Amino acid sequence: MPDLILIGPQGAGKGTQAELIAGRYGLGRFAPGAYYRAQVEAGTDLGLQVAGYLSKGEIVPTELAAQVLKARLGEPDAAGGLVYDGYPRVRDQAELLDRLLTDAGRGVTLALHLDISEETALVRLAGRLTCANLACGANFHLTFLPPLVAGRCDRCGSAVEKRADDEPDVIRRRLEIFRQETEPLLETYRTRGVLRVIDGEPPVQQVFLAIRNVVESATLGAGAREPRKRSVVPIDFPPSAA
Ligand code: ZN
Repeated sequence: MPDLILIGPQGAGKGTQAELIAGRYGLGRFAPGAYYRAQVEAGTDLGLQVAGYLSKGEIVPTELAAQVLKARLGEPDAAGGLVYDGYPRVRDQAELLDRLLTDAGRGVTLALHLDISEETALVRLAGRLTCANLACGANFHLTFLPPLVAGRCDRCGSAVEKRADDEPDVIRRRLEIFRQETEPLLETYRTRGVLRVIDGEPPVQQVFLAIRNVVESATLGAGAREPRKRSVVPIDFPPSAA
């Protein structure tokens, strides 16, 4: 039962890779924002509680977030493992995830660090397009992954739009928050022997291939063995001229 975390700044390709991984290995996905929205739209009890905070622009409290994650872990497609996309971001969330997984007789099998330079993050995010249909939420990119029909979502046909918060200053601030709050988690997972660094700079399929190599060699040991002292790609990879 692999529970696989993707860690990386926005623009690292977590959403895209999470989808590929989930598809290939038959895993469920957990991306908090998307899951919150789905619960709100489905009108579940949790969704109603979450909506109360989101509509006021407030952070969902830890206890409620715990209930949401617990609910997700109890869904049928989570039984075989989940890919966590954009979660955990901070230490509290990492501890919560550990606690809930331990209760379920599971644990974080792999933490994949999708490593990209700040320059790459800026270039990628500046061209990012998102499906306006919240239930779909498909991502596209003006340069790297344009929709088949300009301005239209490939999946559901809704309009695609640039996110208002994908402006350079906002992006830089988010990258800084990532460095301060999320990067420290890398050390936690490294110490545990479940961290693998993946170079997130190459094209999507190449990154996915590197992930597959890691996943398929790690699954044999099911996370129980000592880590192998090798990374699949060099950590200090020069940024490609994107
Ligand atoms: Zn769509």
